[in-house]
Amino acid sequence: MEEKAVSFYWRGFKERYGLVGSKCELCSRHFFPGRVICPECRRKGKMHEHRFSGKGKVYSYTVIRTPPTGFEIYIPYVVAIVDLEEGARVVSQLVDVKPEEVSIGMPVEACFRKIREQNQSGLVLYGFKFRPLK
Ligand SMILES: [Zn+2]
Repeated sequence: MEEKAVSFYWRGFKERYGLVGSKCELCSRHFFPGRVICPECRRKGKMHEHRFSGKGKVYSYTVIRTPPTGFEIYIPYVVAIVDLEEGARVVSQLVDVKPEEVSIGMPVEACFRKIREQNQSGLVLYGFKFRPLK
């Protein structure tokens, strides 16, 4: 694997594995993915790394029946915009649920799953997805 691919893989590692974003200590807004500068407070803001609880609610969703390459085995599947309880918004696949069972406002939690079979560098990618909260 070339060096560039390795660094790209590791750059997103923490975010994908730990649902880590950032929180501005000044205005208490949360961001995912994390930001270096708070768009609200600018230079006065103080950004800290924040690990999200993984709990949230479905804000909106769509059922995918024509998947991009690498996602064929999952169809039909649901991609949702999840409102995390801290206030940030994440786009993620929903698992362990049938498309017809998904509803707006449904409580969900993050779980750790295979994202896709492999990328160009031959790696199997893992990361978080969301499932109904039990
Ligand atoms: Zn702020």
